[in-house]
Amino acid sequence: MRIGIFGGTFDPVHNGHLEIAEKVWQWFSLDRLYFMPAAQSPHKRRQPEAPAWDRFAMLVLATQPYAAFYVSTLELARGGVSYTIDTIRELRHRMGEKTALYFIMGADAFQGITQWKEYDQLLRLMNLVVIPRPGYSLRAEGLPEEMRARVRAFVPERDRVEEQGLHIYFCSGIHNATSATAIRAALRRGEAIAHLVPSEAAAYIEKYRLYREGSTT
Ligand code: ATP
Repeated sequence: MRIGIFGGTFDPVHNGHLEIAEKVWQWFSLDRLYFMPAAQSPHKRRQPEAPAWDRFAMLVLATQPYAAFYVSTLELARGGVSYTIDTIRELRHRMGEKTALYFIMGADAFQGITQWKEYDQLLRLMNLVVIPRPGYSLRAEGLPEEMRARVRAFVPERDRVEEQGLHIYFCSGIHNATSATAIRAALRRGEAIAHLVPSEAAAYIEKYRLYREGSTT
């Protein structure tokens, strides 16, 4: 089994997340892909703006059309600061040693990877799939030697996923400038966001008046 894990705050889920999930699922022949909303990200100074249940509901609505996409409640149920190492250990325990895990992240998140709790242990438990993000460079220089040796450039259609070992795949083939911060700012200004967010999530944001002054939820 090959399982994808896509961690984030998803505040809200947006078209960039969906494009990444669709492509990585296909390129890496994943059996399932779990979106893993964090209760509280260790990397972000402030709390998510929308409550956990709204972020979860939007993800469920947005992923429902995809048979292989699931939303995990693991980090929300655990509560507190969501450290990926705790989550991956739990998944390893549940899924066994034979399941290959592919953790998906953007280049912005990868820039801080050596600050993640027990990152060296973490990278012994899973593969990383790193997606370019406008404004952030994807470079192996500066990484600890042990990590650098595991970096693979991954060009879709050209490269294959390696069956043996754990790797850090630097993907090309996605250039998506969508960001949740920009979407929240647009909503505060009263601007339309329908082109940036999956339609089911956009309807939920509208109905429950999320990310606006005087929100009713
Ligand atoms: P915010 O603007 O609130 O920080 P975000 O748009 O980065 O949110 P997150 O939920 O924090 O969304 O993202 C989850 C993961 O998806 C992170 O690893 C992030 O790097 C990645 N990601 C989000 N949007 C993109 C994008 N447009 N291109 C590449 N990676 C992305």
